[in-house]
Amino acid sequence: MARRRKVYEGKAKVLFEGPEPGTLVQYFKDDATAFNNEKRGIITGKGVLNNRISEYIMTRLSEIGVPTHFMRRLNMREQLIREVEIIPLEVVVRNVAAGSLSQRLGVAEGTPLPRSIVEYYYKSDELKDPLVTEEHITCFSWATPGEIDEIMSLALRINDFLYGLFMGVGIRLVDFKCEFGRLWQGDDMRIVLADEISPDSCRLWDSQSNEKLDKDRFRRDLGGVAEAYQEVARRLGILPDGGPRDLKGPAVMQ
Ligand code: UDP
Repeated sequence: MARRRKVYEGKAKVLFEGPEPGTLVQYFKDDATAFNNEKRGIITGKGVLNNRISEYIMTRLSEIGVPTHFMRRLNMREQLIREVEIIPLEVVVRNVAAGSLSQRLGVAEGTPLPRSIVEYYYKSDELKDPLVTEEHITCFSWATPGEIDEIMSLALRINDFLYGLFMGVGIRLVDFKCEFGRLWQGDDMRIVLADEISPDSCRLWDSQSNEKLDKDRFRRDLGGVAEAYQEVARRLGILPDGGPRDLKGPAVMQ
């Protein structure tokens, strides 16, 4: 097969032209970056695990009626997705104080929040993804008020579902980042979940020990990054022990 045309290359993924119009192939790399590209590294096997974990999460979410860009996994590192117009926002949902929220507001990391918080960051490497409000989003036409309502309600539904999904396998969903896009079908437009949901974009702590099972292991030089991602996949029941067909369901923990 002729090499596909590269459409876009980001920090952790590459997008190629898909086989049909309106589709793209999303390739997951092993590259890791943090602190707006100041820290870089390679986590061997990360791309394979994130491809699988994101496939699993997007599939479960679509089963509860959350529209996503995901179509199907193609191989170890690639998935077929629908081409969408990305809304230039990183939507962060938080259940427990951590990371930038703890730093900005002086709330101790690990403090449970009385209710889940949704935050918006403007996607711009140059500006280091600044925190923005709905006023900025509508003023600069990044999204309409109706689109913000839809994004907020999808983000909270995703959070509720994933919080329970991870709790069932002994993991606390501290926070996560998601991105949305506009999917055009003729004159109709729907907001859909795009990008990926994986340990690169979530904070996942072991429910018992609070051990970090996410990208903070890389950010904070804690070691065992690939092993932590593997542990997430294993608990979700998607890391085969004896080959690709040996897939168990989630390991439910009490
Ligand atoms: N996050 C992300 N990409 C970013 C910034 C944040 O995936 O560019 C995720 C991060 O992994 C965490 C959540 O969003 O799960 C909240 O991140 P926070 O604002 O605390 O920023 P950080 O501490 O990562 O700078």
